[in-house]
Amino acid sequence: MMRTYPYSHAAHTKKLNLVWAVLHAYRQSAKKIANDQWKSFFITGEIDKQALICASDHILSDRYLQTCQYQVVGVLKSWISNRKNEFRMLVMHSSLWEDPTEEGKRLRIQLLFINKHGLWFKDRVVMQKEAIPPEVMRLARNLFRRLMNKHNKPSFRHIGMALDAKVARIEKPKKARNAQFPYWLTLSTLTPRKPIHIPLVENPYALGTDGDDKAFVQINVRRGTAMDGRAGILDIARVKEAAPVFSLERPRPQIVDTLGIDVGLRTLVATSMGELLGRNLIDRLCRLDAQISRLATERQRQGLPVRSRRYDTLVNRLRTFLKNEIGRVLNGLFARVHPAKVVIESLDFRSPDLSRRLNRLVQNFGRTWFRQKLDMLSEQYGFLVEEVHAAYSSQTCKSCDYVAKNNRSSQSKFHCRFCGRKAHADPNGACVIRRRRSLAEYAPWRSKRQILQATVGCFLKRWSGRLSGMQVDSALRLVVEGNPYFADHRAALWPGNTTTD
Ligand SMILES: [Zn+2]
Repeated sequence: MMRTYPYSHAAHTKKLNLVWAVLHAYRQSAKKIANDQWKSFFITGEIDKQALICASDHILSDRYLQTCQYQVVGVLKSWISNRKNEFRMLVMHSSLWEDPTEEGKRLRIQLLFINKHGLWFKDRVVMQKEAIPPEVMRLARNLFRRLMNKHNKPSFRHIGMALDAKVARIEKPKKARNAQFPYWLTLSTLTPRKPIHIPLVENPYALGTDGDDKAFVQINVRRGTAMDGRAGILDIARVKEAAPVFSLERPRPQIVDTLGIDVGLRTLVATSMGELLGRNLIDRLCRLDAQISRLATERQRQGLPVRSRRYDTLVNRLRTFLKNEIGRVLNGLFARVHPAKVVIESLDFRSPDLSRRLNRLVQNFGRTWFRQKLDMLSEQYGFLVEEVHAAYSSQTCKSCDYVAKNNRSSQSKFHCRFCGRKAHADPNGACVIRRRRSLAEYAPWRSKRQILQATVGCFLKRWSGRLSGMQVDSALRLVVEGNPYFADHRAALWPGNTTTD
């Protein structure tokens, strides 16, 4: 597992301008290379990191172009592999999966075969010495295209550079007079045989972690610093192999099968084991929200554009806070608990307590970072992540499956009106989410209505026998009868004698 560590640098403006020139050319080339790769993907069905690049289209040197192509192909492959997973889920959760006939069986095997080997855009595919018929190929192609159209293709407009030793090297200083800096970055520029040398300051975090230094350097523009024609701040980072997961000093982690996680802003993470992590996040966010809103209103009143250096600083502070908090909570959690599988709801970081502006900011960054961090940890600790639909999970009782709006008596309190169970609302939600795993009826692409039907159905399967035998004036029966979620089921439960109308 790789991790990156940023290094402060002491490059002067002239050198920085040379780096910027490389970065601009790099982004241009990345776009062109990506276009060529897509073309070849749709025609031949393949993405090739060794593909020939026509040098006359680019101003970068050949060695840069190769590096750039490696990076572009990596991004595209990972994007395609996400679509591949969706394809598999789509087939496995479709009605085709339940088709018992011989043709249905063959069709789904063929579709999964095409998907597994990434052959959607091939002209001819042979499976077990038999060519797959063209109509199946067409079906696979159309399904895959539809999944592709649901997402934006990766954009290379703002990418940073991931450079290998062909064009960038970090070395210890060779001359004594350069020794005040522990490392120097040697970077090729657009002019052949005219590299520049940039002094780097040690990063104590990188020094403190075990693991090998990799011959990789990343150069990125720090987020949110480029505006109004100003170029932004360049960050130089070095890639390191992460330290091994298990260590003798730390207490042994608890091994669990499946961990449900409820994500929110009041409690950042609640687990199905009953832990509440990252509490009072909202207070800090509210304070930042007030500051940002005040600044924005003030600037609007004066007729100025909202964005300013101060505004960006505040927004950056918010991002950093959220990012650190997500990192801290998730790192801590997975150091203590090692699940085989993590079940999360489709993430939603909105909160009625925050302004619209802040909701938008938090929603965008929070979701990306949470997902990124979780993916990183899943790679590090080797657990699977499954996403399920979040609807009604906060209103459903984990003990008796009863779902009702008034089960949730306040933001943090849960009180089941059917079995009387009282609990903190967030861990209860996490348990409900955990139980929705591997069930097609709770897949994230279902509608809210379908989720409600499934939840109500689950409750009725367990209790309808007992409910239908209840007296007209029984308290429990009145509770269920008065619940609008069960409106469609009243007649079936108590035919001929309903108390309400
Ligand atoms: Zn209950």
